[in-house]
Amino acid sequence: MQWNPGGISNDVEDRRSGGGGGFGGRHIGVGGALVLLILSFVFHRNLFTIFTGDSGYEQPVAASSPASSAAENTEVQFVSFVLDDVQTTWEKLLPAQGARQYRHAKLVLFRDSIDSACGQAESATGPFYCPDDEKVYLDLGFFDQLRGQFGAPGEFAQAYVIAHEIGHHVQKVLGIEGQVRRMRSSDPRAANPLSVRLELQADCFAGMWAMSTAERKIVDQSDVNAAMRAAAAVGDDRLQKMATGRISPESFTHGSSRERTQWFQTGLNSTDISACDTFSR
Ligand SMILES: [Zn+2]
Repeated sequence: MQWNPGGISNDVEDRRSGGGGGFGGRHIGVGGALVLLILSFVFHRNLFTIFTGDSGYEQPVAASSPASSAAENTEVQFVSFVLDDVQTTWEKLLPAQGARQYRHAKLVLFRDSIDSACGQAESATGPFYCPDDEKVYLDLGFFDQLRGQFGAPGEFAQAYVIAHEIGHHVQKVLGIEGQVRRMRSSDPRAANPLSVRLELQADCFAGMWAMSTAERKIVDQSDVNAAMRAAAAVGDDRLQKMATGRISPESFTHGSSRERTQWFQTGLNSTDISACDTFSR
């Protein structure tokens, strides 16, 4: 994938240092916080949760710079590049097709656990979009999982994940998410099939973005193959590792691997959002 590190996107909210514990839960002091920060980094665990308990998220006050390695910094810049590219694409696509004006979503980077407007989520939940606060939540550790457990390496596989989540935001902007929400509450039995339709449409929207990057020579065929593998890998509910009783919009059925790659391909072959109507087919 062709990209240049270009700094951090304005739409990225870095909450990696906050984790689930928060700095303000109990008073650790600036020195203690710094030690915890370094230890958390060394052990790849958020030790703040141990010391502060799960007191809910508060804005980090002690340390403004999150614990991160050089490799992670590159990843953050990559996430920024993809996020901006995906959102710029939708900014052009939606009005051009007579649809609504696009408004930007935020992407929240976190470690271990996070409080969103949709409830608390653990890293194991996988990346997700919360329609209530219009934010995508991502733990960079998920990219390691994509590489290792899911066997989907490659930058474009990671890009696909972001494009898919922004696809959910596009659904919110277009009012599709609201419609589905109302349909779900009037007929709870239809909840799962409706969720699958939503997921497949987000895959299709991700494909439409991939199409635009191919036109601009940002990706090549091997990138697309990597994205297809990612779509397939996260197909059969492998993301569903969430803790019980916690809400996550991504916790529903996503559709089979075959369906997911099919719809990604459909998006890849089209420039018209109406091609991604997964609800009437
Ligand atoms: Zn999804």
